[in-house]
Parts: sequence; C-alpha cells; structure tokens
Amino acid sequence: MNLDPENLVQYLDQTRQLYGNQLFLEDIGQGNTETSPEDLDSFHKLICNCQKCPLSQTRKNFVFGVGNPKADIVFIGEAPGEQEDIQGIPFVGRAGKLLDKILAAIELKRDDVYICNILKCRPPKNRDPLPSEVEKCEPYLIKQLQLIDPKLIVALGRISACTILKTKDSLKNLRNQIFKYAGIDLLVTYHPAALLRNPNFKKPAWEDFQIIRDKYLLQP
Ligand code: URA
Repeated sequence: MNLDPENLVQYLDQTRQLYGNQLFLEDIGQGNTETSPEDLDSFHKLICNCQKCPLSQTRKNFVFGVGNPKADIVFIGEAPGEQEDIQGIPFVGRAGKLLDKILAAIELKRDDVYICNILKCRPPKNRDPLPSEVEKCEPYLIKQLQLIDPKLIVALGRISACTILKTKDSLKNLRNQIFKYAGIDLLVTYHPAALLRNPNFKKPAWEDFQIIRDKYLLQP
C-alpha cells in the first residue's frame, strides 16, 4: 500500500466506513508468511489465526484448503460460503457436492486433487472479495501453490478467475485459454454454483473438464 499521508487518510476513512472504529494491523496475530514452512500442515498452523483483515472478526473458521498436498490439479474458488465457514472445509455446500460429482465423472476423488479459495475467511453475506482482502490473502494462496507444485490450476468461476488474473474479462472469453499463475498453467471454468443456477452451462463445463482430463491427467 502507498502510505503517503493523503492515501493513508483516505484508506483509514474507507476502512472506518466499512468496519467501524477497529483498526487491523499487518503484524497482529500469526498471519505471517515470513518464516518458510516446508509443508502445507505447518503452513496451515502458521497462518490459521490470521488477523490481517476484518474478515477474521466475523469468521467461524479459517478455511485453509483440503486434499492431496502433492496434487496435480488445484481447484480455486473465491471464498468460503456459509457451510464452509461452519465446517472449516472448502466446497462442502451444494456447489461442493456438485464439484464432487464432476470430479467423479473424470474419475477423480476429492482426495486426489487440492481444493481451496482465494480468501480463507467468509465475506459477510457471501459478498464478493474486496481488493483489500485479496491483497492480504493472495500471498497465502501463492505459498500453498508453491508447496503443492501442481501441473494445473483450475479457477472456478468468473470472480475467482478475474481476481487471480487481474482482469475484468468475461468467463466466456477466459475459457479455453491456458494462462500462467505463479508459473503454473491455469484454466478457467464455471463455478459449480453457476451450474446449479443455470443447467445450460453444464455442457460447456463438461467440455472443460474433458480438456482437463485429457491434457493434464492422461499425460505422463
Ligand atoms: N464457493 C466458493 O467459491 N468456495 C467455496 O468454498 C464454496 C462455495
């Protein structure tokens, strides 16, 4: 963040409008990525009490991620929803159940892949992540990816894709392209919640998952 006095005053003013008179400081709590953890479990322990943003005050659980720590494929959603916040596990609600079914269709189980979100804490009423929250949380995602070192990242939905790729493009344009994120191939597909809302998306989503299977699972 640019800390010249004018920006600082503006930042504090916006923060007060959004969150009231509590101030959240970078170095409070254990949300630190300075020391270098060697595996996902130690990284989880290191950051699970993160207080870097106001979502730490409203979360029930810090939702780190789940699955194979050496997975070839990592699925990334935007942020935990209500059920995820309650259970501390990503994609366990209705959308998560559909994701499990889609994975089964390409002969994968939850434990074969890794599933996480950009934000580790639930935004109130499931609103979209704020840029200030992404700024604090994205380094955690990048560290997870470095530790897992997958062949492929799949961004689930437009919000996840646009946040990761720093674009405002449409999901339609972002599909069928291979991007790079943290040096790793990244594909974009529909969020399972969008498939629940609009069954017409199921066919193109299935095409995306066939590409994932053929290009990244069936190759040595
Ligand atoms: N939607 C997301 O983006 N992530 C979850 O974990 C659940 C629903």
